[in-house]
Amino acid sequence: MSTIEKADFVTIRIFQKDFNFSQDGPGNRLVYHLQGCNLRCPWCSNPEGLECSGGREYTVDEMVDEVMRSKMMFFENGGVTLTGGEVTMQFDAVKELLTCLHERGIHTCIETNGLNRHLPELFPVLDLLIMDVKHYDPDIHKKATGLPNDITVYNIQAACACGQLLALRIPLIGGFNASCRDACGFAELFQRLKPGSDVTVELLPYHEYGRVKYDNLGKEYAMTESARVSEAEAEAFANILKAAGIHLIKT
Ligand code: SF4
Repeated sequence: MSTIEKADFVTIRIFQKDFNFSQDGPGNRLVYHLQGCNLRCPWCSNPEGLECSGGREYTVDEMVDEVMRSKMMFFENGGVTLTGGEVTMQFDAVKELLTCLHERGIHTCIETNGLNRHLPELFPVLDLLIMDVKHYDPDIHKKATGLPNDITVYNIQAACACGQLLALRIPLIGGFNASCRDACGFAELFQRLKPGSDVTVELLPYHEYGRVKYDNLGKEYAMTESARVSEAEAEAFANILKAAGIHLIKT
């Protein structure tokens, strides 16, 4: 069966979609937030997207149609970004969609926590891979989010080895991963993975945009003031990475 025939009945569950300029990949992009996540980061700003149920189901065919109708909006090298939740929770359907879009010349990007061992299967149909790295230490990663970081590290290595365009992101959370000692830990990890010159790292200081959603969902928001990271702390962290030869960017 061809990709196009399959796209008729393969479905993807989405809880939000909107256009966004330059923050989740280059140019103006149609950004789909996919339902379901395998982690439970206490700082998550999309609590409505964590469960696998909910949102609305679209066929891949419907999504491809929507993307092609939106093509004129993809200015400045824009395209489509899939984020979440965690996009790889719907792996087969995501692969199908990215393949269809790639075949049609649409710029494709995903943002992922990297915790799916099959991730490299997506590289041939991905123009940009954005991967979050929450902690360099597997045990601390597991304690905070529910799973260790070993598969993420494996996937960064795989992406570097095959020249996949890769943008790494660190959510900077006070008391979890934002100290100078932590910066050294991240620097060591990245150096060990030997990223190519076009692998970038971006720091995303903690924010509370999701707090109101927890109230609306009747869920407890577990983060406290201590999670905030001052400009000086973020700068000290950035300086340690820069000194280690890491290519930092800000989008
Ligand atoms: S990986 Fe992302 S979507 Fe999943 S819980 Fe963590 S912050 Fe939220």
